[in-house]
Amino acid sequence: MQRKLIVGNWKMNGNFVSNQLLLQGIVAGVRDLHQADYVLCLPYPYLHQAQSILQQTNVAWGAQNLSANEDVALTGSVSPSMLVDNGCTYVIVGHSERRILSHETDDTAAARFNAALKAGLTPIFCMGESKDERESDWTEYIVGRQLDSIMRRFGVHALSHAILVYEPLWAVGTDMPATPSQAQEVHQFIRKRIARCDEHIAKNARILYGGSLHPNNARDLFAMPDINGGLVGRCSLDAQAFVSICLSI
Ligand code: PEP
Repeated sequence: MQRKLIVGNWKMNGNFVSNQLLLQGIVAGVRDLHQADYVLCLPYPYLHQAQSILQQTNVAWGAQNLSANEDVALTGSVSPSMLVDNGCTYVIVGHSERRILSHETDDTAAARFNAALKAGLTPIFCMGESKDERESDWTEYIVGRQLDSIMRRFGVHALSHAILVYEPLWAVGTDMPATPSQAQEVHQFIRKRIARCDEHIAKNARILYGGSLHPNNARDLFAMPDINGGLVGRCSLDAQAFVSICLSI
């Protein structure tokens, strides 16, 4: 049985003052919860603040992206070892906002995935189709291609050190979450595709759902057999809402 996981993605939000209150609120709210693991992914400048507040709590922290390189001249980038230096244990890779707005491709996302693993970080690897792709019945083709971009390069065993996320693009930031059955269908597809290569890894894979998760819909989504937790965007910016989602698992 996979241990459940709830990840908060703060995106490009926060400042030192608001972060302190939010981090303390989340820590207080999940302190006595044991049913899942909890992770917050913050913007780079606040990772050290996260480290100082979250260390010795049951909330881990991570980043939202990383360079695929170490020790090269790459102005403006942040290397995997710098994340480790800031106590990160997780990093989001291939989020749809980066795939769309920053021209992330299957190749560049795969390189970042590998760099994270090499540094000892757990990649939180995002996959999902656009509205048009869903309406054209391409969901399995797109998600399968994104998943294969990792399995083909690094082997199915790489997945046993990663978190997978199904995040349909049409549900991210829209208040239009996938229904539990829509999400379950894709999660089951992902698990079966992994099982073609390795049944044990498929059974133990932690596959999160992301896209407009909210205290009002989390319980029904988390009740689905192949959904092992969630990636939470906007509701991770409100301690009460985030804790309420954590209580829904
Ligand atoms: C996200 O950005 O990963 C996300 C799921 O956002 P939201 O929960 O706001 O839809």
